[in-house]
Amino acid sequence: MGCRVRTVKSELLRLVAVGDVIVPDLRGRLPGRGASLHPALGCLELAERRRAFPRAFRTSGALDGSSLRAYLEGLDAE
Ligand SMILES: [Zn+2]
Repeated sequence: MGCRVRTVKSELLRLVAVGDVIVPDLRGRLPGRGASLHPALGCLELAERRRAFPRAFRTSGALDGSSLRAYLEGLDAE
């Protein structure tokens, strides 16, 4: 949903919105409407710039992507 690069689904990170917080669904077991993103900060930033999250989660309110960002920053640091 971010950069629109085609990828096999297993490489994508599933995201769900819990309340207004976007969280990575690492086990693929959280309920609710999901969105998929490459597990990369650049992809997150593109998605945010495009306002892709409110569309994906069908909400008009602001979404908190800070925990998702922290998670991706942790991946990049490895
Ligand atoms: Zn991407």
